[in-house]
Amino acid sequence: MSNETMKIPQATAKRLPLYYRFLKNLHSSGKQRVSSAELSEAVKVDSATIRRDFSYFGALGKKGYGYNVNYLLTFFRKTLDQDELTKVALIGVGNLGTAFLNYNFLKNNNTKIECAFDVDPNKMGTTIRDVPVYHMDELEKVLSDDDIHVAILTVPAPVAQVITDRLVNSNIKAILNFTPARLNVPTSIRVHHIDLAVELQSLIYFLKHYPTEEIE
Ligand code: ATP
Repeated sequence: MSNETMKIPQATAKRLPLYYRFLKNLHSSGKQRVSSAELSEAVKVDSATIRRDFSYFGALGKKGYGYNVNYLLTFFRKTLDQDELTKVALIGVGNLGTAFLNYNFLKNNNTKIECAFDVDPNKMGTTIRDVPVYHMDELEKVLSDDDIHVAILTVPAPVAQVITDRLVNSNIKAILNFTPARLNVPTSIRVHHIDLAVELQSLIYFLKHYPTEEIE
């Protein structure tokens, strides 16, 4: 990642892919400029936050004109390394893992699940949407041969840490953890945790206890 990116606050950085996806759609529909109000409506982020986020990118919207779509797109493409394909490994080809293999990540960004791993003899040796499923025994070799540094974890929680330790030793730098397990990793490894059950529960809690206007 460039030094420029390092200065962007993490909360802003997390919104980049969201902005990028929407701007790409705008661009393909031929729009040259967009206001922060339009963006806000589309991505559901308040316009003050959008203006602050965009000021980090050196994109200053003009009153009555808005933001230049091309400028923003070029910035996002560069910042999100969209010119380079990022190969990703998926561990655990269960229901969720299979759904990810069937999902075309390339549609919206330059990321591709390159290989998958499982211990189930019925799954290894197969391919799902052209992605080969290997046995876990081959993990270290395939990751190093294919020069892969990002992994998605969709295994049962009790095996998540053991697999994580192997991933760390295989030079994986980032893990998207879909298991409920909290993973211990060295500080040099970045883990993003998405617990779908918790997210759903939290959504329902907010729905019950906070009127929508109060939700940030
Ligand atoms: P399914 O119905 O296919 O079992 P699931 O998502 O309900 O899917 P889980 O028990 O969560 O099943 O397991 C997810 C996947 O992780 C399964 O395909 C399973 O074979 C695989 N798995 C289990 N243990 C390991 C392991 N140690 N290493 C790699 N993959 C594993």
